[in-house]
Amino acid sequence: MAVEASSESTEQLQRVLRGVVSGADTAKLLHDALRGAVATTKGRQGLLLGLVDGATTPLAATGPVGRVVLDAAEGAISSGRLARRSGEGASAMAEPVRVGTTIVGALAVGGDGRRVDPGMLSLFADAASLVLSRRPPSAAMSAPEVLEAVASVSAGVERAQVLVRQLDVAEKLFGARAGFVALVEGEGMRVAQARGIDVERLRGASRHPEFKALLTAPSLRVDPPSHPVVAQLVDGVETAVGLPLFADGRRLGHLVLFVAQAPDATERALLTSFSTHVALALRSADLYRRLGDKEEQLASVVHSMANPVLVVDDASRLVIVNGAASELFRLAGTFELGQPVAGKLGSESLEALLLGESDGDIEVSLGEPAPRVYRAAVRPVRSSQGGRLGRVLVLDDLTKEREADQIKADFVAVIGHELRTPLTVLKGFVQTLTKRWTTMSDDAVETALRSIDSSAVRLERLLEDLLVVSSVESRAPALSLEDVDLGRLARTTAEVAGERVQVRLSRKAVVAAVDRTKVEQVLLHLVDNALKYTEGQVEITVADEDDRVVVSVVDEGPGIFSGDVPQLFERFRQLDGSSTRPAGGTGLGLYICRRLVELHGGRIWCDSRLGVGSRFAFSLPKLTHDSPLTQGSPTAFGQLPGQ
Ligand code: ADP
Repeated sequence: MAVEASSESTEQLQRVLRGVVSGADTAKLLHDALRGAVATTKGRQGLLLGLVDGATTPLAATGPVGRVVLDAAEGAISSGRLARRSGEGASAMAEPVRVGTTIVGALAVGGDGRRVDPGMLSLFADAASLVLSRRPPSAAMSAPEVLEAVASVSAGVERAQVLVRQLDVAEKLFGARAGFVALVEGEGMRVAQARGIDVERLRGASRHPEFKALLTAPSLRVDPPSHPVVAQLVDGVETAVGLPLFADGRRLGHLVLFVAQAPDATERALLTSFSTHVALALRSADLYRRLGDKEEQLASVVHSMANPVLVVDDASRLVIVNGAASELFRLAGTFELGQPVAGKLGSESLEALLLGESDGDIEVSLGEPAPRVYRAAVRPVRSSQGGRLGRVLVLDDLTKEREADQIKADFVAVIGHELRTPLTVLKGFVQTLTKRWTTMSDDAVETALRSIDSSAVRLERLLEDLLVVSSVESRAPALSLEDVDLGRLARTTAEVAGERVQVRLSRKAVVAAVDRTKVEQVLLHLVDNALKYTEGQVEITVADEDDRVVVSVVDEGPGIFSGDVPQLFERFRQLDGSSTRPAGGTGLGLYICRRLVELHGGRIWCDSRLGVGSRFAFSLPKLTHDSPLTQGSPTAFGQLPGQ
């Protein structure tokens, strides 16, 4: 688990870094660095190969190591870069260890071929280089109270803490009541911390030509109170001691302390040693920060994942819940952490999988009010030592895929069925006519030809429906708006449809900017359906409702069960088993109507009562000609005034 594993690596690194500053045994520290690298990169074997006088020699190993590990280490030393090797079912990775710019060895880890994290390896290679580059603490520096003071500097794992504590320790050990640290930043230096010095004075002094000399000396430098810069900084009664901060062969900055008297030889040795430790502590803080960044990156990767992800510990309590999972399971984010997961996921099968022993993938339907289909995968989370820490659940939204599968299946079924019926009729009558035309009565011939014609019409309609569906599916067609008198449109439709259709209109003409052909298509289909499902009268009404127009088609048919209504406007929906379903029809008509109405920004619905009848209605907003919906038609956009 990310949290556990990384706090483990943090501890390992911290142990090494503390040891570096407090003067712990080199061999032990190198071993610690190696163990840390193996654990945090999820490796199995580790080798720290040193380069001494041109020959390689193992400095630390976790046990017997394979050939690939050794090869990787040698590869990193000779190339000066991250080296990877694999073979015989194992793989290894090695990072060179440098002191300054010189390669002094390589840190290699080997595993069973799983992915290991090279970023982590480089952190521990840096830690090993800190161990190898430090100087043994001087005798004065080894005094327990001095070591303790110095160790407190490195106890800070943040740069800011190290900066503050070093001035505390300098005061305690050397009586320095004032001082400052300047750190290298890009090409220049920046004062990072000051004590006992007025910032304005520091700024003033920094303009002095000799100020630079104070900060660039390559080794300890003592300036008397008479030095112009020193005098300017601390009223001329203190001596300045400048100490370069070097770690790992790199110059990090400069420490300037103001003391009452010039230091004697012992104090100088102590001051030099102290500055080495401060530099190491600063370098450790940098390493530590990089480790923290890696942890943060990991957490942010999980949190930024679009897939819902959650992790439970071995006692089935929530440890990580990303945003997508919080939303899906309605969990209160971080407040839920540490709580048992049981009863929180809203799916028994999912909880059984997560709380069970075995890994697995299942398909579940989750979320209210519109459930979606997910593939849920549960895997164990193990610590770098292989111990069981918990389980992780990752969900993959399959809704679109499943919908597409369903559409394909429906499509094939409907097309298969709808093509076969008219084709059978066509074939049958054509065969009959071919064989027996001359012996058939005129009436019989006419009946056969009519059947052929209606089958051809049916096939044509099916084809047209499919073409319309594919056009609205792939890309929204542009509307070509014109002012249409919807009352007149209703009347024309009624005339075409026959006597059973009546029109009821308000007295005032209802005119709206719509795509005439598309609205005509919708109205015609609703009227067709009404005529198909009822023997009685059908009425079209057109009403003006402020910002929208509502057109309704009312029949006295058998009505539709209210539970079926929401599905009417879906693709391929025919109400199976209902008395209203006549032979034929593709179940595409109302779906096409919905899409065409929605293209106008309108809505279509149905009110129906079983045994009483149905009212199919659609509303259209009163668009203007330059509405954004009217792509392709001339608009006011982009035209110059007066054009
Ligand atoms: P089709 O194109 O096959 O006619 P529709 O999408 O137009 O399909 O209609 C879907 C289903 O809705 C029909 O199969 C029918 O069961 C039902 N339906 C449509 N209009 C009416 C109506 N006026 N009265 C009763 N049922 C209807």
